[in-house]
Amino acid sequence: MAILLDGKIISANVKSEVAQEVTRMKAKGITPGLAVIIVGDDPASRTYVNNKKKVCAEAGVYSEEIALPADTPQDQLISLIVSLNNRSDINGILCQLPLPPHIDDKAVIAAISPVKDVDAFHAANVGHIMIGDYTFLPCTPAGVMEMIHSAGVTVEGKNCVVIGRSNIVGKPMAMMLLHENGTVTICHSKTKNIKEICKNADILVSAVGIAKFVTPDMVKPGAVVIDVGMNRDENNKLCGDVDTAAVSEVAGYISPVPGGVGLMTTAMLLKNTVTAAKMQNAFIEN
Ligand code: NAP
Repeated sequence: MAILLDGKIISANVKSEVAQEVTRMKAKGITPGLAVIIVGDDPASRTYVNNKKKVCAEAGVYSEEIALPADTPQDQLISLIVSLNNRSDINGILCQLPLPPHIDDKAVIAAISPVKDVDAFHAANVGHIMIGDYTFLPCTPAGVMEMIHSAGVTVEGKNCVVIGRSNIVGKPMAMMLLHENGTVTICHSKTKNIKEICKNADILVSAVGIAKFVTPDMVKPGAVVIDVGMNRDENNKLCGDVDTAAVSEVAGYISPVPGGVGLMTTAMLLKNTVTAAKMQNAFIEN
């Protein structure tokens, strides 16, 4: 039976370290600040934004929500971002995706100052990650790495398979595993023999968005299986990409959904906000 990689426990450790760091910073007059922009009334986005505000409050990070109507013109959103770029009390800026169809995500991400880009989606930060010289890592794959480390699993020399190649999860995930000397394969919708490729993985990360996509016959006995997916099952219950009950019989470690990577994502956002605040204030501890 696989060991559970409990996002609740692992994220609590990250959040507690961040809270301690925030206490030290506040003693020197610095309060990290995060601006969270939400455009429209997508219920999933509303839940994510509420969670982000809650964890900020718990860790002592100042957060400011800016909720805009769905028909907000792109120019207005970009002007808002420019004003946040110029505020010294705001260290991190996050624009909750997806945005309404009339707004170009790329233009919005490009408007965020790279030093305040706590999602690490800006092309400058993506480039830094590619060359292995980065300040921020995107929150979801960084959270996955934290889970792998918490299990005491080393990546070096392991066969790592990432299913999914999105810019926000799959690609940076693969790059982070590569930076830790894993031998990485990325699968996507055009991949042939996906079962055989996955079956060879010591570390399997699924970021597809299809419930029960990963079945036990795709998993090597003892493998680390991390489930990034956030889907709804036939009863409209939140579930991941992995058939958790069945795969648990084969895997060595498994992360659940809910209670897995989602919690890590929010914890890593806090960590990035604190990093941004330290950088912008040249914070050095004595
Ligand atoms: P995305 O942009 O839709 O990417 C999905 C990827 O899966 C694509 O690369 C796609 O391949 C691949 N794919 C789709 N069908 C496939 C198939 N039959 N076989 C193999 N690969 C297939 O999604 P995303 O933004 O990366 O998110 C992926 C999942 O993670 C979603 O469920 C999302 O909700 C979840 N998520 C969770 C968190 C969290 O914090 N837990 C954060 C972000 C996302 P192509 O490129 O060929 O189309």
